[in-house]
Amino acid sequence: MNCTVLAGSELKPVQGKVAIGDGEIQAVGVDVRAEHDDAVYDLKGATVMPGLIDSHCHLIYRDVVEPYDIELRKSLPEATIDAVFNAQVLLQKGFTTVRDVGSRGNIGVEIRNAIRNGGIPGPRVRAAAQIISAPGGLGDFHPSHIFEDHPYRYGLAAQIVGPHEARALVRRQLKDGADWIKVGVSGTGFNPLCPAERNGLSDIECRAVIEEAHQQSIPVAAHAESAHAVRVAASNGAETIEHGIYIDDVSLESMIEHGVTLSPTLAMYRAFAIRGQSMGIPMSIVDGHKRTHEHHTESVRRAFHAGIRIVAGGDAGLRHFPQGSCVEEVAAYVELIGMTPQQALQTLTINPARLLCIDKEVGSVDAGKKADLLVLTDNPLLDVTVLQRTESRVFVMQSGAVVDGRLPLCGSVPPVG
Ligand SMILES: [Zn+2]
Repeated sequence: MNCTVLAGSELKPVQGKVAIGDGEIQAVGVDVRAEHDDAVYDLKGATVMPGLIDSHCHLIYRDVVEPYDIELRKSLPEATIDAVFNAQVLLQKGFTTVRDVGSRGNIGVEIRNAIRNGGIPGPRVRAAAQIISAPGGLGDFHPSHIFEDHPYRYGLAAQIVGPHEARALVRRQLKDGADWIKVGVSGTGFNPLCPAERNGLSDIECRAVIEEAHQQSIPVAAHAESAHAVRVAASNGAETIEHGIYIDDVSLESMIEHGVTLSPTLAMYRAFAIRGQSMGIPMSIVDGHKRTHEHHTESVRRAFHAGIRIVAGGDAGLRHFPQGSCVEEVAAYVELIGMTPQQALQTLTINPARLLCIDKEVGSVDAGKKADLLVLTDNPLLDVTVLQRTESRVFVMQSGAVVDGRLPLCGSVPPVG
């Protein structure tokens, strides 16, 4: 009681109460009445919103300064421990669901299972396995003079050559429990061995990955930075474009035609442009990040105004952009893209719930959904940066259980009725 609820998929502020029972939201509004034996909590004017969803998470990323920290400097057991640690951190920061878009070994899937079975605390996970890549592609951080022609098996990406290997890998990942397929269509500014403008896969390989996944009814997240990569991924029906830095007219048309969702991870790139120098990155490289960020912002703005669905993704876990920084995405959308606070908050709640096909269970504060809630001292519709402040978090609830913070106890048992 005594709270503002951002209710429904539209996040409409409603004064009143939220009734919770059996891990679910029973009712929302002013007319909610306590039953006999109900515990009543005075939230003292706090704001209740749905638990957050990070659509571009890598649970294994922790304290990453540069790409070699992701795999070559850490063993698989260390990466697993990082993922267990991060799962708890994300939950405490209000993320009750994440989509893991690339892991080493099969850590993302195993963490998902461990959380689902109650073995460890963490958000609900929808997991991809290793990123499907190729020699010299997105996930090949492995210099030829060290690795020769031996692909590194324990990295963030697995390598295929040709459509047959692509299809075989998709099937193996499904056998091993992946919910999503992640494919590296273009390179990235963060891999000097395969920059953003390079095609990480041939068009035929990319098509084979997407076709095989769809044949098995599994969605595909496509890492695509260049216009060509966005066009190839979108025209073959990938469910999401990750990053989409250089979206042009043709690739945008293709995204519209195929109903593709954009997961920009704008704030992560913005962090490099704004905070690059303090990260110890040379000025010439920071300037490059700034130019990338300008293109990226323009691409996201055009996509948003063309009606493309946008979901917030962190790509976080860097030393200067730790897990949970996905909330900065919302501020970037308001400041740079022209979203209203409500639209920006939807990219963290109902939009990804719909993308993950779990909007009947989560993504909004509605009767019948799971009680996944984030309770804040202030209303993020008035200032979205509230989400970035630890001291603004009152508590986090997952399926009706408080997993971080404390319910402000009212201390009285209410009258019957
Ligand atoms: Zn990523």
